[in-house]
Amino acid sequence: MILMNISQNVSLAGYSTMGLGGPAAYLAEVTNRSEVTEALKWAGEHQLPAVMIGEGSNIIWGDSGYPGLVIVDKIRGYEVFEEDETNVYLTLGSGEPWDEVVGRSVEAGLTGIEALSLIPGTAGATPIQNVGAYGQEISQTLTTIEAFDAQKGDFLTLAGSDCGFSYRNSRFKTTDRGRFYITSVVLHLTKGNPLPPFYSSVQEYFEEHGIKEYTPAALREAVIAIRSAKLPDPALVRNTGSFFANPIVDAAQLDYLRGRFEALPYWPVESGGAKLPAAWLIEQAGFKDYHDEATGMATWPRQALVLVNEHAKTTADLMAFKQKIVDAVQAKFEITLQQEPELLS
Ligand code: NAP
Repeated sequence: MILMNISQNVSLAGYSTMGLGGPAAYLAEVTNRSEVTEALKWAGEHQLPAVMIGEGSNIIWGDSGYPGLVIVDKIRGYEVFEEDETNVYLTLGSGEPWDEVVGRSVEAGLTGIEALSLIPGTAGATPIQNVGAYGQEISQTLTTIEAFDAQKGDFLTLAGSDCGFSYRNSRFKTTDRGRFYITSVVLHLTKGNPLPPFYSSVQEYFEEHGIKEYTPAALREAVIAIRSAKLPDPALVRNTGSFFANPIVDAAQLDYLRGRFEALPYWPVESGGAKLPAAWLIEQAGFKDYHDEATGMATWPRQALVLVNEHAKTTADLMAFKQKIVDAVQAKFEITLQQEPELLS
């Protein structure tokens, strides 16, 4: 018996903050674990693929749409399940809007995720790409996830250490892509203040505003101010945040590039190479505040890493614009930028 409402032939443009994409053959919202099981069972019985999405802030749909069942995650929940003098363990429903979670944890005086303020999307999406910003990443606070394992046909609990986390990456994006449907996450936060050093943009904000006590609320305020000043609000401007990952190059490639580009900014990484800011590479390749009439796409004037949909009609337009940027960066720096949002079709 099917209790949930399954809609047919639903435009997916409203399920990606880029506002592009064809129709889903079927779409259903789920609000709890048993509806996830029910939805997957229904897809299985109809021999259809299924995908679970949050707020669509990191998804690009193909123009032909999705041929199976799109499951929209509306599983809510924010619960302190264990607490002592310094530690707090929070269980979050996977569909809980992420920034609301950060706001509530900061109001409770907890540290651990406040630098991840204003990141769009749901709590359950954060482990997929090991979301991180301004020195914090979800792998540092995530203790377990609960997910439906399509391979085993049942729910299981995975420890954070089993999620294959690396820089903006996890097993959910790589070896086990499409296998797990995450329904809740547990975070370990602590009572107290985040510890310096902070990213220079954060430190500058503290200094400019005379902030001397580095509370979680102060760090959240700084990150919100920094992000709002340079990133477009997806509610007003169609975009999916950073469209490319910041590339990591090895030591030899770094030396070579520094020899050719004196002003190249970089941050050393433990392996000996460095992270490079993709935004700088894109600007240097000629795409600063670039408005592409042919495709209706543009780079955001204050952050070239963000591609915005000004009047694009199709995902093919977006991909054509993306390719222009990738080709130009490749030609100038011999670096292949990697797309960050997932293309689903
Ligand atoms: P940004 O702050 O200009 O940083 C660009 C690059 O420089 C990033 O790779 C960043 O490293 C690195 N960087 C800057 N200051 C650093 C420091 N003090 N120590 C070590 N590395 C430093 O770039 P942005 O693109 O506007 O992004 C702002 C923040 O949001 C960054 O932390 C970025 O990683 C994060 N972000 C995350 C995602 C995601 O999780 N998918 C998407 C977009 C942006 P890190 O990447 O290690 O921070």
